[in-house]
Amino acid sequence: MSVDQRIQQFKQMAEADPKNELGHFSLGKALLEAGQFSEAMASLDRVMQLKPTMSKAYQLFGEAAVGADQRDKAVEVVTKGVAVADEQGDVMPRDSMIKLLQDWGADVPEVSKTVAPKAVSTGGTSKDGFACARCGRPDQQLEKPPFKGALGVTLAEHVCQGCWQEWIPMGTKVINELGLSLSSPVGQDAYDQYMVEFLQLDGK
Ligand SMILES: [Zn+2]
Repeated sequence: MSVDQRIQQFKQMAEADPKNELGHFSLGKALLEAGQFSEAMASLDRVMQLKPTMSKAYQLFGEAAVGADQRDKAVEVVTKGVAVADEQGDVMPRDSMIKLLQDWGADVPEVSKTVAPKAVSTGGTSKDGFACARCGRPDQQLEKPPFKGALGVTLAEHVCQGCWQEWIPMGTKVINELGLSLSSPVGQDAYDQYMVEFLQLDGK
């Protein structure tokens, strides 16, 4: 799917269910990719209102704000995002946002801890080098692919059980709101695309 097609589809989802943060999040992300920075900021702002704990939205908002030449706004939101991510244990978005602040020459707020010691204290069932693509946790990797095919294998390699459990009801919503038919290749493609967006598997 081209970025324009994705923008159209995510717009449809955001309008069909304006209180569902995933539609706005995916739309904001696609708008950012397309270089439509102010529109991306509006969608991501909506995400932060609907779900203030979704740390990745702060990161993307910051990137869009810089694209729109609003550096001060970017620093303000990303600084807040670091605190949100730190509290949620979302290590990867947190560290990406710290990197952004450093790149922008802004002050970096103090963060509490890394998650690595937690994995050790819980007994560490993790396979070597695993970190969930969405939340960055090093433990609770999926034990096997949740379905057949290449995407299932990718999931098992890169996604934790908690994030997979969060996706399942979201996937049902996506099917219902967009009226997707999983028996058609087009419907299956769209569904897979949402899953990849939600679980942040781009490029995996
Ligand atoms: Zn996870």
